Amino acid sequence: MISFKEALKKVLDYKQDFGTEQIPLKMAMGRVLAEEVIADRDFPPFNRATKDGIAINYDSIATGQTTFKIEGILPAGVAPTLLSNTEQAIEIMTGAVVPDNADTVVMYEHLVIENGWATLIQNPTKGQDIHPKGSDRKSGETVLQKNTKITASEIGVLASVGKSTVLVKRLPRVAIISTGNELVEVGEQPLSHQIRKSNIHTLFGALSQEGIVPKEFHLVDEKEVIKEELANILYNFEVVLLSGGVSKGKYDFIPDVLEELGVDKVFHRVLQRPGKPFWFGKQPTIGTLVFSFPGNPASTFANYQVYFKNWLRSSLNLPNPKITVILEEGIPVKGDLTLLLRVRLKCADGRLLVSQVKENGSGDLTSLALTDGFIVLDPVKEFYEAGESVSFVPTKPLW
Ligand code: AMP
Ligand code: MG
Repeated sequence: MISFKEALKKVLDYKQDFGTEQIPLKMAMGRVLAEEVIADRDFPPFNRATKDGIAINYDSIATGQTTFKIEGILPAGVAPTLLSNTEQAIEIMTGAVVPDNADTVVMYEHLVIENGWATLIQNPTKGQDIHPKGSDRKSGETVLQKNTKITASEIGVLASVGKSTVLVKRLPRVAIISTGNELVEVGEQPLSHQIRKSNIHTLFGALSQEGIVPKEFHLVDEKEVIKEELANILYNFEVVLLSGGVSKGKYDFIPDVLEELGVDKVFHRVLQRPGKPFWFGKQPTIGTLVFSFPGNPASTFANYQVYFKNWLRSSLNLPNPKITVILEEGIPVKGDLTLLLRVRLKCADGRLLVSQVKENGSGDLTSLALTDGFIVLDPVKEFYEAGESVSFVPTKPLW
């Protein structure tokens, strides 16, 4: 059996580039940019008023002038104009182009306006309340780097440079497969000896967060049926995630079938808990990667988060940040297994603190809902002290 560290390293050795595709901006959330994005014009593209008020030329103040005749109004969205007289003012709205012969904006709150005249009630500074043309980025400069994960903030930048379509990393075609005769559909009423499928829905949800819409399958615990259906699935998908059927039970046919279908085993079983019977391999001729997770919900979930997610991020050229958190309480580690422990996260006084979630083994599905992530405790010592910093794999967003 290999160690957790070795297993993760081996999985990452199989990172794969799935190419790129052009998609509509509206579909780009959560995807990874495959192009450098360049400013097509200056940011902002003109000297932009940042307050509602008047635009004036500061030189007139320097001569002692405090009252200005208002010569008109400049709303946002109007082509540039000039002050007809630099001793006068023009009312200007946020987002409007400041006239080239004005250099200062004074907001209404610092003015008294009466009968077409504006009087300053506070001394302005030259250039105030103008967002100068090109001061954020110049035309031609990079606004987004390649390999950036697109979040709402990147969407706004993409929109403002006119990217109605975006070149992103293509995502793999993924199949998710539940196994087991005891499983029924969510909408069904299970008999007393049955349970509803949950892993496949957890995986579906987790993958959809990555922008992947997987296809779902179910395999009954019959070797020949599994073999026939899996052969097809291997052929039609680039990555296959299975849950269940990889342990030592009499009906755990998956490892044998995978090998019979020519999937090369990279490893089976890892020195870790939960998720020890994890099987990982690749079909060399078709190229399909197989992540076969044990069926207990915490095992499937932990292995997905640790192995698949790291693999996907590496494949997409995203960094896998090493996150550490501080233990609120001491934790013993007995035996030779790396523990992936369910924890709750607390951000306090600028520190990330974790405490263990009360759980009832790898079959305890409800504890996962209380879990913010897993801490990884290697069996290099028998006790991790309170206050120690340990590696953390988040499973929920912070917000
Ligand atoms: P297995 O790995 O097939 O031996 O399954 C281990 C345990 O996980 C069994 O109690 C299964 O009933 C349960 N299990 C397997 N697949 C799922 C699933 N998709 N959803 C919920 N529980 C499952
Ligand atoms: Mg099973």
